[in-house]
Parts: sequence; C-alpha cells; structure tokens
Amino acid sequence: MKYISTRGQAPAVTASQAILNGIAPDGGLYVPEHWPNLALDWSTLRTQTYSDLATLIFDAFFDDFSVSEIDHIINKAYGEQWTTEDIVSLHNEDDLTYIELFHGPTLAFKDIALQALPHLMTAAAKKQAINDKIVILTATSGDTGTAAMSGFGHVDQTEIVVFYPEEGVSDIQKQQMQSEAAENAHVIAITGNFDDAQKAVKTLLSDKALAHDLDAKNMRFSSANSINIGRLVPQIVYYIYAYAQLVKSERIKPGEEINIVVPTGNFGNVLAAYYASQIGLPVKQFVVASNENNVLTDFFTTGKYNSKRDFKVTNAPAMDILVSSNLERLLYFASGQNSTEIREYMTSLAEKGEYVLKTDTRDKLNKFTAGFASQEQVLQTIKHSRDTTDYTIDPHTAVGRYVYEKIAVSGPTLIAATASPYKFSQTVLQALNISPKSGHDALEQLAEATSTAIPNQISELFDKPVLHKQLIDAKQILTTLRHEIL
Ligand SMILES: *Cc1c(COP(=O)(O)O)cnc(C)c1O
Repeated sequence: MKYISTRGQAPAVTASQAILNGIAPDGGLYVPEHWPNLALDWSTLRTQTYSDLATLIFDAFFDDFSVSEIDHIINKAYGEQWTTEDIVSLHNEDDLTYIELFHGPTLAFKDIALQALPHLMTAAAKKQAINDKIVILTATSGDTGTAAMSGFGHVDQTEIVVFYPEEGVSDIQKQQMQSEAAENAHVIAITGNFDDAQKAVKTLLSDKALAHDLDAKNMRFSSANSINIGRLVPQIVYYIYAYAQLVKSERIKPGEEINIVVPTGNFGNVLAAYYASQIGLPVKQFVVASNENNVLTDFFTTGKYNSKRDFKVTNAPAMDILVSSNLERLLYFASGQNSTEIREYMTSLAEKGEYVLKTDTRDKLNKFTAGFASQEQVLQTIKHSRDTTDYTIDPHTAVGRYVYEKIAVSGPTLIAATASPYKFSQTVLQALNISPKSGHDALEQLAEATSTAIPNQISELFDKPVLHKQLIDAKQILTTLRHEIL
C-alpha cells in the first residue's frame, strides 16, 4: 500500500518512508492511497486482545513491515508500561461508554501512539538503510512532550528535544518533563505561551545551516507530531477494540451504528475514528468537541475555517489550538481525493487565515457535528459527573461530555476519555470546590475527594529529582539546540 500527499505534488511512498518523512515534501500530509480491505468480523474480533487487533491494523496499514517487525513493535509498545492489561478500559453509563485511553506511562491518550512510534521509526530507518540518528524536535503544551519523551527515552539512535512554554503546563506535566532521566532527552522551557514555543521550533525546522550541520554529523530531524501517519494508525485500533468489546458485552448488536464523541485539538484522534469507519466500523455520527478555541465548531457549523482569532489558554490546554492540521486529511477524502482543491484551501489558510468549503465537499461531512465548552462549563461538567455518577473525569474529557449533552446525541455512544483526572488534579479539585495544594499534596487531595487511588505512574513522581531547569528566551532557541545536540 502506498501513501500519497494530500497536496498531490510529492511522490507516492511506502509506509516506512511516510513514517520517516513525517510531512510530505510538498507540505501535504501522507494518506493511504486506498483503504485496506479488512472485512471486519465482529464475532471473531470480540474475542481478540488489544494486541491482536493492533497487529491486524498495523499489518494492514504498514504493509512494508514484516510480520516479525510488527510483532516486535507491538510487544514493545503494549507491554508492562500499561497499568491495564487490555491497554484501554471501558466505563459504561447507560448509552454512553467512556473509552479510557489514559492508562499508559504519562496518563494521556498520546501514549497509545507514542509508545509505538519510536519503534516504528527505528524499524523504518533500518528498512531504508538509514544510519542517521533521528532527532525528534517538539514544541508541547504538555501532553505531547511527556508522551514523546516516555516513548523515545532510551531508544537507541534517537534524541528527543522538547520545548515547553513556561506558562500553561500543569504541575504534573512540568514535573514529568523536568524529571525525565533518559540520557537522550533534552527538555527546555521557553518564556511565553505555547504559540511562542511552537513558532520558535518552526524556525529551527527551516534553518538550512542547521540542517547542513546535522547532516554532517549523521543526524536528521523527524516529527513526533500527530501529522505523522505512524501516530494516526495506532489510534484506529482502540475504536475497533472498543466496538468489539461493546458487541461482546451485548451493549450493541454487531453492525449497529454508534456515535463517537472526541475532545479535539489537532484533529488526530477524531480522524482516527473516521479512518476506522472507512475500514468498516459502523458510525452514525462523529462529534467534534472543542474548548473556547472553537474554530472547529464554527467550521462544521458554517463551512468556513477561520483561524483569525485570539489564542486562548484554557483549562483543557492540550486542545488549545487554532490550526488543526489533521483536518486536511479529512477534507482530502471529503473532496473525492481532489488535491487541487486541498491546495486551494491550504494556500488560502496560509495567506488569509481562512478558507470556505465547496458545497459538494461540505455535504460529504454530514456525519460530523461539533460543539464547544467554555472553561466554566468544563468545571461544572466535572462536578456534575462526580455528583451524579461518582465518576471523575479530566477537563478534556469534560469538554466531550458537555458537548454530548448539549447537542443531545442519542443511541449508543463512545466518548474518548483522553486524560486521567490526576494529570490535571488542580483543575479537577477546583471543579469540586476544593482549594488545590501543589505537587504531590494535590494528588492526595484528589484521591481522598474521589475515593480513588493515585495512579502508580505518578505516585512517586514528586520524589524524582528535577534534572532539567533550563529556561530560555525564544531568541536563544537555535544556540540552545546546537549546544544540546551538536
Ligand atoms: C492531545 C490531546 C487532545 C487532542 O487530541 P488531538 O488528536 O490533537 O485532537 C485531547 N485531550 C488530551 C488530554 C490530549 O493530550
């Protein structure tokens, strides 16, 4: 199976090349040329383990990897580092099922893909006879950085460099990053917000002299960002798995359509649900839930993407984003794989900060609905869920839960629970009207208030020494990076 660029001006490549390249040379995103034919049979799938299903999906999408390579990758990615053997777990409330995606090392859903990506990349490099060291460079509002370090930490032939904004990361996220002990991890704070950090990192990626010097030392940049197809495919697995489990527990009949609600930032997670539907998952409606950075709500309601607005730092920070990159992949399929049309949209977005969908393309998105939650509504939803069902949700999941109620979704519904409430203890405590302490004390407060146990992954987090204290100004990013890796 070949991967082609959404913008149609780059050569078709194999899965392993697409994973190594990250973004296509024409600036587009890699998409499968056609959907694999899997003929999903729920009576068989319902008996399979998470790893069985991961193998099935990886084999189908990454078809230039051998069976033993895929087995190795799955073993590495979905092993002892998870606190549940099934990798994800389901929590049911009437018609609604939360898929808890946060039982990995950093307590957020990005672990599911980022525990696999480093092994996909190193296997891909071997396959392409590339001996360069892979340098992963990321700007993070918190979750990507911690998950990327956990995935790439200690992986041979890689370096992982994380820049995070001084403002807007949670206590836990900061401690997770600052205490990262892997010898190949570099962690640096930048003054300002996420936007500032991201802009600074982008200047590095287009710096020709830097690229030249890396090359001279047999190093190359790659991306752990969710535009990498190696991050998207692992996320298809849990939608298939959750559906099979719903069939198994007879909450739905095989073939019955479900709704999928996803708290959304860069559009990766909800796109994975769409990909799952393209290979046979029966979906009635996709619900795209945003926080106050509600570009996508407006987009799905009006057909116009308008990024010209203020960036807001909210209490669901992993969804603070104004340009959702993976939307381009959805539009590519909605337009009937029309790369000319996609180039027009993306040029308009780059030049004017907006674009308007053609009617035909917009009509193809009729399964998508969208809504958003304000920060106050997030807090109320956390409290409401606790009070009415004893279930504690994190602020991102609360965005999804609020939108689910608001637009009155009916019928069996899956909602992606993207982070553990413990990862955002302070916001959750605030929602429960408890004035939050800091560090480990906040974890204890939350454990007591909710009669739940502090997850093992972070029970000793605050005992770990802080190893990374560097704080720089965005202007120093190039000198800092050179000093760290060259
Ligand atoms: C990254 C993240 C999201 C957004 O996911 P996308 O794939 O970028 O849409 C939502 N919730 C949490 C907790 C996250 O870390």
